[in-house]
Amino acid sequence: MKKRLFIKTYGCQMNVYDSARIAELLTPLGYEAATGPEGADLVILNTCHIRDKAVEKMFSELGTIRRLKHAQERHGGRMVVAVGGCVAQAEGAEILERAPFVDIVFGPQAYHRLPEMVARAATERVLDTSFPAEPKFDYLPETSATPGVSAFLAVQEGCDKFCTFCVVPYTRGAEYSRPAAEIIAEARRLADSGAREITLLGQNVNAYHGLSPKGGVWGLGELIGALAGIPGLARLRYTTSHPKDVDDALIAAHRDIAELMPYLHLPVQSGSDRVLAAMNRRHTADQYRRTVERLRRARPDIALSSDFIVGFPGESEADFRATTDLVRDIGFAQAFSFKYSPRPGTPAANAADQIPEPVKADRLAILQALLHEQQQAFNQACVGEVLPVLFEKPGRHPGQLVGRSPYLQSIHAEAPAERIGDIVPLTIRAALPNSLAGAIAPQSPSLDGVAA
Ligand code: SF4
Repeated sequence: MKKRLFIKTYGCQMNVYDSARIAELLTPLGYEAATGPEGADLVILNTCHIRDKAVEKMFSELGTIRRLKHAQERHGGRMVVAVGGCVAQAEGAEILERAPFVDIVFGPQAYHRLPEMVARAATERVLDTSFPAEPKFDYLPETSATPGVSAFLAVQEGCDKFCTFCVVPYTRGAEYSRPAAEIIAEARRLADSGAREITLLGQNVNAYHGLSPKGGVWGLGELIGALAGIPGLARLRYTTSHPKDVDDALIAAHRDIAELMPYLHLPVQSGSDRVLAAMNRRHTADQYRRTVERLRRARPDIALSSDFIVGFPGESEADFRATTDLVRDIGFAQAFSFKYSPRPGTPAANAADQIPEPVKADRLAILQALLHEQQQAFNQACVGEVLPVLFEKPGRHPGQLVGRSPYLQSIHAEAPAERIGDIVPLTIRAALPNSLAGAIAPQSPSLDGVAA
């Protein structure tokens, strides 16, 4: 008999990827996807620790699940409740203690054992937050779900950098790179099932150093080179990168591999060397500038995106000005910026010189205004240009499709549904606040087969 599985996913693309793999893992046990938790046989919260107040928000969500579970029990049913992801890893037994109706708590490195945990949950409550000696990828089934036009593929996991604000090294564990042959095989399956674009995922993706098919070690540049030849695959991207791990081979890949899109999310966090050192980022602001220069020499049209933290402990007005100076020097096409908020268990959380909230809020407003201005300028500069757009899905209005430019901008245009999966030249007509509007360019039926 079919059982209903509801997974709620928080946070990053890696969690989205993990949730898809969890669903595949549970399919042989008879679970099929439900659109909501009501009446589900198994509810999984795949949590994220990066969000502000992540733990409180998770317990609040669990309150809703508890009411649904008890309602189900009153009607003679049973709902198994599982909490996974980075909050589960960090909080572990605390979740079982505070939420007695939760049946399973599992960490991101343990989810390949979920079928066994679900079976055990019939008679006991299960906690599995160990970092197994064996890589979980060896125990996951081959990807089988239809991926859509744009797919994710995890190539690396964990992080050894230990930035002082970040929980990832504690929740995801040490860096692990999947062997290249395994990644190439998964990419081929995705392409065979219709994926035209693959985004390679990793917490520190350009630290990738996986076993090559011939027995040596490949970095991310070499891996991208091997993936670029896969038939049907028109576009490659990767995220999230660390500036210190941008090596010569990766820069050469941006120069030489047409399938590698000219867009890079390269978090810098701060423009102040003092703050970068306190964050343990292992590079200076000028080293970041030089890396960007090299990338731009290799691929002049590359668009840059970044992450910023304002109000890190000890950040002075001069430090903050160094950040806005760096933003002006680089010119970002897009960026994510946040106020520093302490993550329990990380070194910066205990720093004495925390910045008052109003100061953080003022600095964030200034930075976001600057970043917004740069994003608008970048989008506005595209108006009148013809960009190759990979149509991904129907738009909000009938007869409309939505796709992505090489620079990851979301673009909508009138086009028939059968063009989903095609790369089509669009003339950009307008830059809207969060997207672009385009129209199919005349006399250019398709750019398919041509790397965009
Ligand atoms: S490199 Fe990224 S994932 Fe690793 S500790 Fe720093 S911020 Fe966290």
